[in-house]
Amino acid sequence: MIRNRSLRLLFFGIGLAAVFVLTGMNVYSLFQLRESTIEAAYDHKRNQLDDFTNHVRYRFFQPFRGIRKLDIGYLQNFREKHGHFPNNFMEVMAQADKDSIFGDIYYAPDSPDPCLDPQAPLYRYHPSQERFYPVQGAVELVCDGMGLARSRMRVLIDDYRWNNKSTFDTHRSMTLSMIDPDRRKVSGHLTFLIDREYLIRDVLEPGLRDKFGDSSESGVAVWLVDYMQEEILAGSDQNLQYSRDLQIDLRQRFPDLLDNWVLHASMVDSPTILASNASLRRNLIVMVMALLALIGAFAFIYVTSRKERELIQRQSGFLANITHELKTPLSAMQAAGENLSDGRVRDPERIRTYGEHIYNETLRLRKMIDKLLDIARQDAGQTLVQRTVCDPGPLLEEVVDTHSNHLDSLGFRLNVSIPEKRPFIRVDSDHITTMLDNLIDNAVKYSNGQKQIDLELQQDDGDLMFKVRDTGIGIPAKQQKRIFEKFYRVEDAMTARTKGHGLGLSIVDHLVRLNGGTVEVESAPGTGTTFTLRFPIDTSEQADVPTPESALSAQTGRYATQG
Ligand code: ADP
Repeated sequence: MIRNRSLRLLFFGIGLAAVFVLTGMNVYSLFQLRESTIEAAYDHKRNQLDDFTNHVRYRFFQPFRGIRKLDIGYLQNFREKHGHFPNNFMEVMAQADKDSIFGDIYYAPDSPDPCLDPQAPLYRYHPSQERFYPVQGAVELVCDGMGLARSRMRVLIDDYRWNNKSTFDTHRSMTLSMIDPDRRKVSGHLTFLIDREYLIRDVLEPGLRDKFGDSSESGVAVWLVDYMQEEILAGSDQNLQYSRDLQIDLRQRFPDLLDNWVLHASMVDSPTILASNASLRRNLIVMVMALLALIGAFAFIYVTSRKERELIQRQSGFLANITHELKTPLSAMQAAGENLSDGRVRDPERIRTYGEHIYNETLRLRKMIDKLLDIARQDAGQTLVQRTVCDPGPLLEEVVDTHSNHLDSLGFRLNVSIPEKRPFIRVDSDHITTMLDNLIDNAVKYSNGQKQIDLELQQDDGDLMFKVRDTGIGIPAKQQKRIFEKFYRVEDAMTARTKGHGLGLSIVDHLVRLNGGTVEVESAPGTGTTFTLRFPIDTSEQADVPTPESALSAQTGRYATQG
């Protein structure tokens, strides 16, 4: 038994642990899923930012692509020979000039350096003539960019493979160095002034708005910052206040261009993330509920199996006892019968005692057998119910008649209260008798020397009540719920000394329900117990089968059996 029990506990523990581990794994995967959804949303935004910067790069790098196809050595020779660049080069310049991102375009040969030598020539592109013409006073516009480009080219020139290289002077100018890769020589520099206002107002801001739009829909707010100047230049959502307090989730530079500028992005209540959070919440709630249901089911199985185990234990104890108890009255009867039959007992008083003995033992045996039969029928679901409308008064009187002599002999005082006017009920009268018999038997068994029993009929709203009250040992509140269970007995010394098998109240409970009623117990240890059988009043007003005793009921009032 103990082995079985620990095995059961072990499996129960394993089952519970498995449930927790599985739930833990599920919660983990749910969080992972949410993380990956958020990660995917971030990736998507990152790609969008990349797209956006690539789009800007594309505009800036247009001239480079045009020049890349040209032979810089040839261009230089052509210029030296004709005093101007060939047409294919000038087409590239015309195209760049058309793009409003760029302002004026300047050209300076690599040496002499116009930024160091005021006499050195600097040329400006004239769109109307599509030619470069010398210009004065523009040195400060181009020198920053050109200075940077020259120092960069000094480092790069030896292993640079392309025929041009760009350098950005923050956001004011873009300088393109023209390289002759065969001779490893820079031939000159083209400086494109950048129209900053146009770039911000007409390219970046509308671009950001087009791409990211309303942040509550796109789930992201993007803004352009000049981090050197600590200035916010443009934003994707007009309705949003851009400030330093906005959380920055992503950063994106314009690689190789507009060095001081950076795009900041903040994920604001993205619908994807909100949906993912909501789904996580939903899943967690479902999981917690499923877990609770599972734990509940486990607990239920555990409790019911424990109860069943107890029941089986009590049942086997009962079988052992009952066989012994059935034998006891039989032996007593056998001995008394033997004494009477062999004619040795002649004294009439002793004969009467033997007769009484046999009668009492037969009663006891009969009661025991009746109980067993009741239980057997109850278990098989075969209890016969014949409900008829009847007067409860005579029913109670009949029970009183059956018990009064016996109670008298035990010294019990029986108070019976039956009101003159009482309603009818629809019950099986045999069942009422059995229930009252059991309750009276218990009142006697657990009286503990307090020999008073009250039997009452009372009306309460739509119900009629039979009350059986004793002043005996009482039942602790905790155990009151369980006394109606089969084989259950209160664990105390008095009960242990009293014969019984915990069947009487289970029979009462079963029968009362079969008759559409309820049974209640009110009790306090040391004070006594009242059992109440409650049945709905029958409103058809007439008894189906009038019992002969009903004629007597009108005279019945308070009734006492003195011990
Ligand atoms: P039993 O054969 O043990 O009396 P019952 O089913 O009739 O079985 O009663 C179940 C238990 O309820 C009893 O063992 C006893 O502990 C308790 N009990 C029943 N009736 C009374 C009562 N009138 N006073 C005190 N305890 C009672």
